[in-house]
Amino acid sequence: MTKRGMLIVLSGPSGVGKGTVRKAIFDQNNNDFQYSISMTTRQPRPGEVDGVDYFFVSKEEFEERIQTGGMLEYAKYVDNYYGTPLKYVNETLDSGKDVFLEIEVNGAMQVRAKSPDGVFVFLTPPDLMELKQRLIHRGTDAMDVINKRVATAVGEIKMMQNYDYAVVNDEVNNAVEKIKTIIRSERLRVTRVMPDYLGMLGEMNS
Ligand code: 5GP
Repeated sequence: MTKRGMLIVLSGPSGVGKGTVRKAIFDQNNNDFQYSISMTTRQPRPGEVDGVDYFFVSKEEFEERIQTGGMLEYAKYVDNYYGTPLKYVNETLDSGKDVFLEIEVNGAMQVRAKSPDGVFVFLTPPDLMELKQRLIHRGTDAMDVINKRVATAVGEIKMMQNYDYAVVNDEVNNAVEKIKTIIRSERLRVTRVMPDYLGMLGEMNS
C-alpha cells in the first residue's frame, strides 16, 4: 500500500510575505512536494493566470463548492473567498506525494483541526519587537493609533502558538531554505517512518 503523503501548511499574518516566499520555493524546480492551487473569487491581477496562480471562480460557484463539501478549508479575506479544493489535496496525498498549501491563518486552523498530522509553519515578520519603539520615535501617529497597530500585530503573532515551526521572514532566500529544511526533517520523524518498518516486521514474522 502506498504511504500517504504529508501535508505542509505555510501561513502567517497578512502582509508578512507568504506569497513571495511560496513563489520563491516553487521557482526552484527541484521540489519533491506539490503546490495546491487555491480557488478564489477575487479578480485576477495583471499577469495572473487561471489554473496557475489561482482558480478564479464566481461567488456562486465558490458557495456551491462549500455546500457540496468540495473545500478542505476556506476563508473570507477582504470581501473575497479563498479556499483549498479538497479533491486535488486528497488525490495527491493518496498517491504518496506531499502537498504544500499557502493560506491565511483562519484557513490554516481549519486544516489543523482536520489534519493534525500536517506540518504547520508560521511565517513571522522580523521586526515586531521594535515596532512600538519605531512608531513612537517616528512621531507621526497618535498614541491610540500606535497602540491599535501594536495590538493587531501582537494578536497576529500570538497565533504562532498554534503552529509547529516559526520562520522569520528576514530575507526571502533564508526563509525558503529554513522551510525546506523543516520539510526534510519532518519526513524523518519516527512517527512518519515507523509505519514502513511495522509493515516489514509483519512480513518477516509471517
Ligand atoms: P492574495 O489576494 O494577495 O493573493 O491573497 C490574500 C490572502 O489569501 C493571502 O494571505 C493568502 O495567503 C491567502 N490565501 C491564498 N489562498 C488561500 C486559500 O486557499 N485559503 C485561505 N484560507 N487563504 C488563502
